[in-house]
Amino acid sequence: MSFAVFKALKAAPSSDLIRSARSSLLFLSAVAVLGTLMAVAVGVVALTRTYHALDDAESVARTLQLHMQVDMVHDELRGDVATAATAGPQPDFERHAAQLEAYVRQLEARPLPQPLASEVRQVASSARFYLAAVRQVMHKSGPITAADVLAISDQWRALEGPLDRLTNELHGEVGDAQERGSISYHNGLALLVLALVLITVGLVYAGRSITRTVLATGRQMTAASEAARRAGQSRAEFLAAMSHEIRTPMTGVLGMVDLLAAEQLSPLQRRYVEGMRASGRHLVNVINDILDFTRIESGRLELEQIDFSLPDVLERVRSLVHPLAVERGLALQMKLNPHSPPVLCGDPTRLQQVLLNLTTNAVKFTDQGTVTVTVAHVPQDDAGLRYRFEVRDTGVGIPAERQGELFNAFRQADETISRRFGGSGLGLAISKRLVEAMGGSIGMESAPGRGSLFWFELPVAIGDMGRLGTRGDPDRKPSQPRRILVAEDVEINRQILGTTLRRAGHTLTFAHDGEQAVKLAQEQTFDLVLMDVQMPIMDGIEATRRIRQLPGSNSEIPILALTANVMAQERERYLSAGMDECLTKPIDWDQLFGAIERHTPGGDQPMFRPVPLPVSAGEEQSLLNPAVIESLKEMAGPEVLREWMQTGLSGYERGHAAMSDAGDDPETIALEAHKIKGSGNTLGLPRIGALGARIEAEAKRGVVPEAMLAELQQAITATKARLTALDLL
Ligand code: ADP
Repeated sequence: MSFAVFKALKAAPSSDLIRSARSSLLFLSAVAVLGTLMAVAVGVVALTRTYHALDDAESVARTLQLHMQVDMVHDELRGDVATAATAGPQPDFERHAAQLEAYVRQLEARPLPQPLASEVRQVASSARFYLAAVRQVMHKSGPITAADVLAISDQWRALEGPLDRLTNELHGEVGDAQERGSISYHNGLALLVLALVLITVGLVYAGRSITRTVLATGRQMTAASEAARRAGQSRAEFLAAMSHEIRTPMTGVLGMVDLLAAEQLSPLQRRYVEGMRASGRHLVNVINDILDFTRIESGRLELEQIDFSLPDVLERVRSLVHPLAVERGLALQMKLNPHSPPVLCGDPTRLQQVLLNLTTNAVKFTDQGTVTVTVAHVPQDDAGLRYRFEVRDTGVGIPAERQGELFNAFRQADETISRRFGGSGLGLAISKRLVEAMGGSIGMESAPGRGSLFWFELPVAIGDMGRLGTRGDPDRKPSQPRRILVAEDVEINRQILGTTLRRAGHTLTFAHDGEQAVKLAQEQTFDLVLMDVQMPIMDGIEATRRIRQLPGSNSEIPILALTANVMAQERERYLSAGMDECLTKPIDWDQLFGAIERHTPGGDQPMFRPVPLPVSAGEEQSLLNPAVIESLKEMAGPEVLREWMQTGLSGYERGHAAMSDAGDDPETIALEAHKIKGSGNTLGLPRIGALGARIEAEAKRGVVPEAMLAELQQAITATKARLTALDLL
């Protein structure tokens, strides 16, 4: 047993504690084994001796028995002679004589130690001598006389002496042998007991040593796990604090950048502002990714189970990825099985996050062609369906040796492309964990140069259309001016919120802390409260609780939390204090305006809007992309935009002329077309951009695409007309 324990300890990871337990156990085991072996050897010797001594005793006892028979028969023979003298020949005489002869022979044959053996030999010869004398008398002719009997008696007495001596010696020898046997027996027994004691002591020591090791290791492990738990807790707290510390100033920076972008700027200044905006957003995305990943890793991911519209989710993904797809001259297609139930139940935010990541990756890593998102389902069980989401691209593909590790954190197959678009290498790791947390699986197929397919499958319950449909009146105007109470202690945040919300037509009242917010909510009527969480005097959570306790309808006012703290348990705390929704800083304006609409009376937008699918951005390109043009106008103002459009269109005309003149020179054509592709997409002129991309692709294959050049000319003319009609040229 101790050997097994020793083996187990040997296999255990080495720490000082285990090493010392191992060596003391080895020493104790060696002592116990040696002691046991010695005791067993001595015990075995003693028991063998006992056995021999008892054997000797038994042999002597058997000799004694024979000897007594000799004694008895020689008596009988003397009686035979005496009786024959008076009553004539004795019939038993020959039998007695034969018996004496046989006994003497047997006595001589006994293996006996000296001097007993010589005593026996002497007795045997005396007995034979006596028997010969008796035979002589019994067989003589004529009657047996008294003198014969006397002579025999003398012979008989001569034999009696050695017989008596031998009797005594044999008795003594039996006693000695028995005593020797008994001593050896007791010695052997004592040694066996000693061996048992040694084994027991060894085992007790080993047991104690192991128990001590186990207890000490247990204590060490408890201490280590406690330290790990504390470290994990501090890490979570550190992350929460860091997220707050980084996000709060970022709110200020990005808000100010937004305000700056709304000013009249020179094109160079605008480029700088755009650079700041892009870097700021990238930083916030990286922080979000890291926080998200840590939250999932530490098991604090909380999934929602709410009714949602799958077409809505797809539409949101499409509208978010579409600008990038257009910019890169790609077609983006979304295909949803038309028989899919309109309302599902699950976590739409997390589903959207995974889909968005896969679709954005597909667009990032594809230079030309199409990105297709396909969603299909099969029945799974009574309550739900199994959905398969596929994102297929015609992009660079991924070499087989990099595929295995892409779902690990911070892994990128091609760091140059990733650097161009930004990315932390966490997107796929987060997606995998989210999909698995939702009970699904994720995977990919890819070959370099042949594009990639990223897919995931999820069990999804069917939702309740009724619950989703009662959220508002689809006919109401989505945007009405609201009276909004903003509780925010940081001056710069008040400025940003003030400028942006007032520009959207809302009326604002500011509170600098929670206490003021409660007072204002009691005295005045508002449509909605935007409540910062961390504020001096009274924080947003307490202020919300107090507003909810106000008398009358003022207590029912919708309250939206604004916080840089994104930890899930924190959000839960805000909601349970009575807040209606939790928005994170830096503020995503679309999200904020959407939330204001949703939570104020008359502002609800229909949550379920059937989306025309498939949606294609490549095949039938419209002339203008209103979203891009609108954002350019917002950024630069109408004057600057007109200038840009003018410059752009003259450039396309020059480019077209250059391509037409290039004749058989596809390289020049590809170069010009490339410029048209980039600028067309940037200016929100997708048809021109897409034609530029197609001409470039053809020219790169060595073909001069004349028909496309004619199409381009038509597109330029049509775009010019449309822009002029819209007063954009
Ligand atoms: P990142 O934030 O860098 O995009 P992801 O985890 O989303 O991180 O992706 C990890 C890496 O996987 C990417 O950097 C890229 O090398 C590779 N990858 C992901 N999707 C594709 C795709 N559709 N085509 C080619 N490579 C891809």
